[in-house]
Amino acid sequence: MLKVGANILKLNTIVNQTKSGSIFVSVIQSRNYASSNEEFDLTVIGSGPGGYVAAIKAAQLGLKTACVEKNDTLGGTCLNVGCIPSKSLLHNSHLYHQAIHGDLKKRGVEFDNVRLNLQTLMKQKEGAVKGLTDGVAFLLKSNKVARFNGFGSITSPNEVTVTKKDDTKEVIRTKNILIATGSEVTPFPGIEIDEERVVSSTGALALKEVPKSMVVIGGGVIGLELGSVWSRLGADVTCVEFLPTIGGLGIDLEVAKQFQRILAKQGIKFKLETKVTSADKTGSNVKVNIESVKNPNAKETLECDSLLVCIGRRPFTKNLGLENVGIKLDQRGRIATNNRFQTNISNIYAIGDVIQGPMLAHKAEDEGIVCVESIVSGGTPHIDYNCVPSVIYTHPEVSWIGKTEEQLKQEGVKYRIGKFPMAANSRAKTIGETDGFVKVLSDATTDRILGVHLINSVAGELINEAALAMEYGASCEDVARVCHAHPTWSESLKEAHLAAFFGKPINSV
Ligand SMILES: Cc1cc2nc3c(=O)[nH]c(=O)nc-3n(C[C@H](O)[C@H](O)[C@H](O)COP(=O)(O)OP(=O)(O)OC[C@H]3O[C@@H](n4cnc5c(N)ncnc54)[C@H](O)[C@@H]3O)c2cc1C
Repeated sequence: MLKVGANILKLNTIVNQTKSGSIFVSVIQSRNYASSNEEFDLTVIGSGPGGYVAAIKAAQLGLKTACVEKNDTLGGTCLNVGCIPSKSLLHNSHLYHQAIHGDLKKRGVEFDNVRLNLQTLMKQKEGAVKGLTDGVAFLLKSNKVARFNGFGSITSPNEVTVTKKDDTKEVIRTKNILIATGSEVTPFPGIEIDEERVVSSTGALALKEVPKSMVVIGGGVIGLELGSVWSRLGADVTCVEFLPTIGGLGIDLEVAKQFQRILAKQGIKFKLETKVTSADKTGSNVKVNIESVKNPNAKETLECDSLLVCIGRRPFTKNLGLENVGIKLDQRGRIATNNRFQTNISNIYAIGDVIQGPMLAHKAEDEGIVCVESIVSGGTPHIDYNCVPSVIYTHPEVSWIGKTEEQLKQEGVKYRIGKFPMAANSRAKTIGETDGFVKVLSDATTDRILGVHLINSVAGELINEAALAMEYGASCEDVARVCHAHPTWSESLKEAHLAAFFGKPINSV
């Protein structure tokens, strides 16, 4: 057994012996939770929204739990370089945009000399990230989850080896392992990301100055959010998208069209059904070569200060040691799991971005909770993926849940539509934010809600009412008969459900 303060040489020797399977030794650190004989019930690899939530839940359910994180801060992509920093920049850039383009003036708020202080804007973002990542550390500690800072690798079905920054290793003995290692940026073949002129979403969250021009490759959720941020702050933004619509897969076509019109009015240029073929950053700016998807002879070169590559994310399993235990991947490189989130090794589970399904923080969280519950009490956990909402946090916001109209048509489902324009919603009118609508799709025979699609200022909040209704199998009549406070945005939801069930809303024709 190794004592606290043992030298690195000895430590590595012992771990090598462990890897070869001859003896098992673990290292006592200056913490009170790791000892040579200690065995954890569950070791979670990764502390993103999937991992840290699962670890807390496991500890709450009485499991002796460890959480391994390679980064210095907890919270994963979401808190460090994803949901949280992007929403901070979106909110504050929106305020700036409102001030600079006279929206506040129209509301009677006048001032001279609006200036952008990008450093302060970034500082606010960093403060939010720090507050929340520190909060996760506090929550893990309060729930007595043992935190291991280092790179976790599965060295046997009951062993995770943690390699720290100084290359020392620590072996965790564990009954179960939960892989929550998330995802990483998908690289664009032939375009090198330097996070300065050619950036991924991570670099785009921390640009040191506002570029004069920016090309965004990919008109999906992240591209549109970050494109909006820099467009509002003054960049001339062009978004190049392979598909004929923006917003990615799952967005309703009618919403996508209106969304594009609104963003175009805000100044973002779109090149749809267009693909980027290469980019060259040898000169003072970046030259981006594009061509039409339908007509490859229609080629063009765009020039920009900043190129944002946003073509998606891919599961992160590098050096995780999957091969040591024979964990299978699916054809898209995701860890294959059954409906209990079990891999082909029965005590090793996986959740979140690293498995199939939408790459969303709340999906990862929910999987973490039900996975842990099923480890503790058996049974088959259930998540209705049809009821996982999606949100684009632009202005207006866009959100959806369930089926799109196009999907229902394709599936041959007889459906009804209830629509309500925000221009007829009293709260939206009061505030002067009347862009957008609510669209509800229901089963023509049973009235059950099949999909809800929103585009309006607070669509990201409203969608949760739709999620609740759909989770409980509500009908349009159910929602239409619920008393909604007045004047609220959510009355638009009630009205759209009224329209779907009775054929007409009250406050619109
Ligand atoms: C710019 C951007 C904006 C986004 N906005 C939203 C949003 O608004 N809403 C939303 O729902 N989703 C959003 N997402 C997606 C969201 O961040 C992810 O879906 C979510 O973080 C996935 O959670 P996870 O726990 O599966 O993985 P992650 O959050 O990626 O966490 C995985 C963690 O595991 C660690 N790790 C990996 N391998 C190892 C290892 N071997 N050993 C130790 N640690 C390891 C990583 O360092 C990381 O901390 C956004 C993503 C980006 C990039």
